[in-house]
Amino acid sequence: MSWESSLEYYRVINQVVRERLGGLHCARIVMHSFDFARIAALQDEGDWEELAKLMIAAARRLEGAGADFLVICCNTMHKVANCVQEDLRVPLLHIVDATAQDVREREIKKVGLLGTKITMEEDFYKERLIGKHNLEVMIPDERQRKIVNEIVFGELCRGEMSQSSRQELSGIMHNLAANGAEGIILGCTEIGLLVDPQDVHVPVFNTTTIHAKAAALFALEQ
Ligand code: GLU
Repeated sequence: MSWESSLEYYRVINQVVRERLGGLHCARIVMHSFDFARIAALQDEGDWEELAKLMIAAARRLEGAGADFLVICCNTMHKVANCVQEDLRVPLLHIVDATAQDVREREIKKVGLLGTKITMEEDFYKERLIGKHNLEVMIPDERQRKIVNEIVFGELCRGEMSQSSRQELSGIMHNLAANGAEGIILGCTEIGLLVDPQDVHVPVFNTTTIHAKAAALFALEQ
């Protein structure tokens, strides 16, 4: 939802299309960009009815503008992905499905999940990884979840990158790996802007690049 990561989606999708088609080719994209302040406030208030309404209205406009399929460029807002999909005629490419496919290809069974508090603590995300993709999911402890959430909203969504937060996230990833996580899902589209795969010794799955790449390849296949 923050434009910091939407920018990354836009870049990756176009990059993949250029790599595949060459020359001056780039992707045809219709984009709805929200005012993230409003979205974050509604998330804080827990007003998911209003959030679902906003997402559905935007999705309808994109469908009306000719989009053949949709991506929600955010992990947290996938909490309402099913409501959005039910309202659409075109498919929605789910961020968990794209990510889980990459995880399974690496033959990883147990993953650590970093994201907003909502993504880490509520069921919508983990249950899809577990129930649909047969993965085991670990999350950081309560104190660490609070730290990750604060880094996302207090810094990354505001375009602030700091070495101390990078080290903090790296420590949390190491902790998950030490407790048995065979890979780490960066389940927040801004975290990959700060964290590097080399910050931890297990494979890192950046949902932003995975989802954006999956969208570009899906478009090219159609
Ligand atoms: N973009 C982030 C995510 O992938 C978090 C911001 C939000 O809460 O919408 O979950």
